[in-house]
Amino acid sequence: MMNNTETENTIELVAEKKTKKFFVETYGCQMNVSDSEIVTALLQKDGYESAASSEDADIVLINTCAIRENAEERVRTRIRDFKTTKKHNPEMIIGVLGCMAERLKTKLLEEEHLVDMVVGPDAYRSLPALIAKIEGGEKAVNVLLSLEETYSNINPVRLAGNGITAFITIMRGCDNMCSFCVVPFTRGRERSRDPESIVNEAKLLFEQGYREVTLLGQNVDSYKWFGGGPKRDFEKVNTESKDLKVVNFANLLEMVALVNPLLRVRFSTSNPQDMTDEVLHTIAKYHNICKYVHLPMQSGSSRVLEMMNRGYNREKYLERIQAIRAIIPDCGISTDVIAGFCSETDEEHKETVSLMEMVKFDYAYMFPYSERPATPAAKKYKDDVPEDVKLKRMQEILAMQRNHSMIGNKADIGKTFEVLVEGHSKRSKEQVFGRNTQNKAIIFASEKHKPGDYVHVRVTNCTSGTLIGELMDAPTPNGL
Ligand code: SF4
Repeated sequence: MMNNTETENTIELVAEKKTKKFFVETYGCQMNVSDSEIVTALLQKDGYESAASSEDADIVLINTCAIRENAEERVRTRIRDFKTTKKHNPEMIIGVLGCMAERLKTKLLEEEHLVDMVVGPDAYRSLPALIAKIEGGEKAVNVLLSLEETYSNINPVRLAGNGITAFITIMRGCDNMCSFCVVPFTRGRERSRDPESIVNEAKLLFEQGYREVTLLGQNVDSYKWFGGGPKRDFEKVNTESKDLKVVNFANLLEMVALVNPLLRVRFSTSNPQDMTDEVLHTIAKYHNICKYVHLPMQSGSSRVLEMMNRGYNREKYLERIQAIRAIIPDCGISTDVIAGFCSETDEEHKETVSLMEMVKFDYAYMFPYSERPATPAAKKYKDDVPEDVKLKRMQEILAMQRNHSMIGNKADIGKTFEVLVEGHSKRSKEQVFGRNTQNKAIIFASEKHKPGDYVHVRVTNCTSGTLIGELMDAPTPNGL
């Protein structure tokens, strides 16, 4: 039985815990932004308060990316920035979350002495327990990967957004094993989230005033929910059963589109080997599913694609692009390209150039190949394209892409688009910006429109990165 003093101490401890403030700093992809929102929800639920900045925080959580070496270097530099703060406030807790935490595990504690806690992407529910462990004087690590965790019952706390656009994670992990990629090792096996929880999250966001959701997954086209269980439970499910209701990505897209015609739906990322015509027809069918596909190409050479273990070749990639153009004629298309993958020859680089030339992407994310430890490519292949050659190839595709973006934007001059207003332009208070369904940013003058409004804008000018337009009076297709 507790005596009075013990009770008071317990109350004091709880009070102290309740007032502790945390700050999450996010690096890397949209999935990390989404995870930081889940972490914030979990900690707030446990009584911790969000701090406005790392200076005001008792607990600083750095949500990390491991996709490229320089992403990890940035995080290490950031950790070392806290040396003086930690000297003055030894109670301060520094936690490293996400992919870099998962990749390096306890090694991170040995290499970065300021770090108190290392937590992998599937272990965020254990954060309160890990923080308690540190308060008890120990370091804390949880990097266990899960076959089930999708955080489906957590309502993420939207961080620093515009209140109009939000991410919804629909699946976690990846089973693809592209040879250059660290994700299957840092985020584990692929698992899909219960569609009902996804639709409920979309409904809630709409009620809160959000007008666009982006459905996130490493490979959204392989989303699959077998009535009562995620894809990983497939082997346990009798697929012959008449009661079995399978929800694939096309079905999920439709379910979210039906939440409200004023809620735009985007998604990322598609994979050429899995993207079906059914998905494309669903995009075409619903006005509020954005006419935009991000389809990573990585290389234009079938030999290099095979080494990358991408599951498609040059012809298959082109066939998927043709399918997009046939089924959704006004679709915006962007891509990812890696320059200088192991053993890539000049000829093979030219194949990448020629495929980019054929497709003329609206936008491309381009990177020189960066070997990641423990990936299949690091084990099997030599990173043998010299850095100066990689950079030269990069510059060539960068310049070509800038030109293609400019050509595409110029072709939009004179066209009128439905635009969802996202905010005011940084340059002028009289100007607002938004995006069209093809995901192109448009700036135009308007004093009366606010974020969340749908408007019609006619394009009058452009740069390679932005369309410039004027407001039209006509009602939008959404009837506003
Ligand atoms: S699809 Fe390939 S590149 Fe994308 S996360 Fe999975 S393994 Fe990595």
